[in-house]
Amino acid sequence: MKFLIINSGSSSIKYQVIEMETETVLAVGLVERIGEEVGRLKSTFFPGTKAEAESVIEQPIPDHSSGMRLVIAGLTDKDKGVIGDTSEILAIGHRVVHGGEDFHSSTMITKEVMDAIQRNIPLAPLHNSANLDGIRVAMEIFPKVPQVAVFDTAFHQTMPPHAFMYALPYSLYEKDRVRRYGFHGTSHRFVAGECAFLLNKPLAECNLITIHLGNGCSMTAIENGRSVDTSLGMTPLEGLVMGTRSGDLDPAVHLFLQQNKGWDLETIDALLNKESGLKGLCGLNDMRDIHKAIESGDARAALALDVQTYRNRKYIGAYMAVLGRIDGIVFTAGIGENDAIVRAKSLKGLEAFGVRLDSAKNSQRCLGARCISSQDSTVQVFVIPTNEELAIAREVAGVVRG
Ligand code: AMP
Repeated sequence: MKFLIINSGSSSIKYQVIEMETETVLAVGLVERIGEEVGRLKSTFFPGTKAEAESVIEQPIPDHSSGMRLVIAGLTDKDKGVIGDTSEILAIGHRVVHGGEDFHSSTMITKEVMDAIQRNIPLAPLHNSANLDGIRVAMEIFPKVPQVAVFDTAFHQTMPPHAFMYALPYSLYEKDRVRRYGFHGTSHRFVAGECAFLLNKPLAECNLITIHLGNGCSMTAIENGRSVDTSLGMTPLEGLVMGTRSGDLDPAVHLFLQQNKGWDLETIDALLNKESGLKGLCGLNDMRDIHKAIESGDARAALALDVQTYRNRKYIGAYMAVLGRIDGIVFTAGIGENDAIVRAKSLKGLEAFGVRLDSAKNSQRCLGARCISSQDSTVQVFVIPTNEELAIAREVAGVVRG
C-alpha cells in the first residue's frame, strides 16, 4: 500500500512516497523554483533491492502541474523509479497549513473541503493558496485516488477558549476569527504519540510538554493527549524565538516603528518574519553557525542563544503551571533533536520542579528516540525525532480506513 505525501509551497513541491505496511520511504524529492527561468527537481529513490539513486533535473517548470508531472515521470521511470505506474498510489496526503476553526482533524478532500481551505486563505495567504494549488494538481492527475488534507492547526483545535482568545474586542473574534490557532500540530501530535509509547502509557493519560525547535519553533502543553495551549498564535509568529521570526513582542513595537520610523506594513511584516529571531539578534539563523561564532568569541551570538533558551525556559515554566502534573518533556526538530547545549540551557533551573537531565545522555550523539533525563528526575525528558511526512501518512491511513 503506497501513499504519496505532498507539501506544496508557493514555488515548490516537497514529496515522499511511503510504503505503509512497513512505513518505508521509497522516494523523497523537492521541486523548486516553479515559475522561475530554470526550475529544479531533486529526487532520491530507495528501490529496496537496487541501490539508492539520486536524480537532479534542471529545466523550466512553469507551474505546479508541470512540476507534479515531472515528479510522476521520475517515480515511474523504468530504471530508477519505485512504482510501475500511478495506479500503485492508493492515497495522497496533503499538508495544509491553516484549517481555521473548520477542521479539528484530517479529512477526505471534497469540493466543500476545498472551499473551506479557500475561505481560510486570509489567515495564511501564502501557504493555503499554495496548498490548494497542490491539491488541484493532484486531483487532476489522480482523479480516482482518495486525497486527504492534514492540517497544521487541527491538533490545537482542542485548546479551550481561555487559551485561544486574545484579549481584544470580542467582535474581532466573532466577525474575523482573530484568535490563536497554533501550528506544527502534526509534529506535536506525532512526537506525543511516540512519547506515550516510550512511557508505556496510553496517550490519553499523558500530560506532556512538546518542544519543536527547528527553523520555526513552538511549544505545546498536552493534557491527557490533547493540546490545551501552544505558543504559535493566529499566525506562525507568536511565542518562542525562531530562526528569523521574533516570537512574542509588545504589539506597540509595531506602532512605534510605524510612527517613529515611517515603516509601512510590508516592511514591518518582512522585519518580524524574515529579519528577526536569532538572525535579527546576531546575523545568523542556523544554530550550528551560532555555536561556531560563540566559540570564536562572538558576544551577539551568545546573546542570541541566551534569548532563545531563556524564552524556552519561560514557556516550559508556564506550561508546567498550566498542566500541574507532567509525565514528559519532548525535544524535537533540527535544534531540539541535535543540540545538547540548547536543551540543557532551556531546562536550566527547573531541577526544583523535578526536571533533571543526565548530562552524559544529553550529550550523546544519537539519531533515534531516547530518554535524556536522570534516574531521579520525576519528569522524564526525551529527544524524539519528528517525521511530519510519516505523521501525515498515518493520518491518511486513518482517514482512508475510516
Ligand atoms: P528544521 O526546521 O527542523 O529542519 O530545523 C532546521 C534548523 O535546525 C537549522 O536551521 C539549524 O538551526 C538546526 N540544526 C540542524 N542540525 C543541527 C545540529 N546538528 N546542531 C544544532 N542545530 C542544528
